[in-house]
Amino acid sequence: MEASVRFDADLVRRYDRPGPRYTSYPTAVQFHDRFREPEYRAAAAATNGKTPPAPLSLYVHVPFCQSPCFYCGCTKVITRNREQAENYLTRLYREVELQAELFDEERVVDQLHFGGGTPTFLNPWQLEDLLKKLGWHFKLRQDDGREFSIEIDPRTCAPDTIDLLARAGVNRMSLGIQDFDPDVQKAVNRIQTPEQTFGLMDRARAAGYKSVSVDLIYGLPKQNCERFEKTLEQVLEVRPDRFAVYSYAHLPHMFKPQKRIHAEDIPSGAEKLALLGLTIEKLTGAGYVYIGMDHFALPDDELAVALRENKLHRNFQGYSTHPDCDLVALGMSSIGKLGDTYAQNYKTLHDYYEAIDSGHLAVHRGLELNDDDRLRRAVIQMIMCRTRVDFAEVDRAWSVRFEDYFARELEALKPLVADGLVRMSGRGFELTPIGRLLMRNVAMCFDAYLPVHQQSDTPRFSRAV
Ligand code: SF4
Repeated sequence: MEASVRFDADLVRRYDRPGPRYTSYPTAVQFHDRFREPEYRAAAAATNGKTPPAPLSLYVHVPFCQSPCFYCGCTKVITRNREQAENYLTRLYREVELQAELFDEERVVDQLHFGGGTPTFLNPWQLEDLLKKLGWHFKLRQDDGREFSIEIDPRTCAPDTIDLLARAGVNRMSLGIQDFDPDVQKAVNRIQTPEQTFGLMDRARAAGYKSVSVDLIYGLPKQNCERFEKTLEQVLEVRPDRFAVYSYAHLPHMFKPQKRIHAEDIPSGAEKLALLGLTIEKLTGAGYVYIGMDHFALPDDELAVALRENKLHRNFQGYSTHPDCDLVALGMSSIGKLGDTYAQNYKTLHDYYEAIDSGHLAVHRGLELNDDDRLRRAVIQMIMCRTRVDFAEVDRAWSVRFEDYFARELEALKPLVADGLVRMSGRGFELTPIGRLLMRNVAMCFDAYLPVHQQSDTPRFSRAV
């Protein structure tokens, strides 16, 4: 397979359109409130009936942050009141019990992810307790093959917490950085030093974490190539296993904190393109492999290995090496996936608490995939993870003739073929190095729901760059 990536400013500009990131298909925009607790319970029971049942993945959402980063589009609660954490954990533990009752106790948890908000808003004892409680109610995998990860905000994480998490089985972490430049940090209200960040990275390595990832963002206010290059070089010096370098999407009509960003401080389209080009040049020049959708990894990192061996997967947490698990989502606003269904919890603390306090699960919307959704999901996964689609493989697995079923989509792909993003072969197609950079544009050709959203005046998705 093509493992390289190529930056072409002109093509990237032309294909810079709003579109999903395809951590799921259909995307959360399609969820509806006819999928609730009874449907979720039925979906959970159906997954137990499979032979063998899929392993489990747990996602735990900690929604609190002590201050707002102005660029942020996550669902979160800004507070400095630590009591909020206690109140939340009380409900979370009740939810853990309710959810655990739905799954055969022999089902092993292969993956565990703490996301937010800020998981490290919880103090070390609370985190330890949370891991213990999860272990009481679910069978957490004990060997090295487990993928237990946490998002760390270096501003709120004590070094001891890193050791404590490692002892409890956490073996991967991602560190939020975004940019070290003081002016950029001020403009986005997120001040943190390289010292506090890299100190935690050293600690994680000493504690035996298998993979340390850093998150950066390009396109932030006050950013320019010179400043961002400095940040890239600072981070490259400590050689994290992975980079996630996201594009800042300025959508103040959707994300209120972004209203505090001065539009005139945001880099122009041309500057933003240059920032992306610079990022690709610096990271690939330093030996990192482009995985897809903003992710880079060292060649011996398991994501890069999985890419080479066609074993990459994509789920709500991004890329993963684990095949399809059933994802149990815990906490306010979290999204899970059981078999061919998706479900999301209530998105406010009030509604989440009310559901749990009345002895119910907190599922408030979701979706059951139909046959067409399932087929398209498989094709979109092939594009995003393998960067190629073999028609015969799809025909065999889905009892269709690809060229007939997707005749309209193959027509839509033609301009991308003409522009060199996609190469057609006898009975399939593959993404070229520039196509890999624009893979979501390729996937968008197979999204049955996108034309409806594209007619809307309010953009529902961020742009590619
Ligand atoms: S970026 Fe992270 S820490 Fe900052 S407000 Fe968003 S969720 Fe909270």
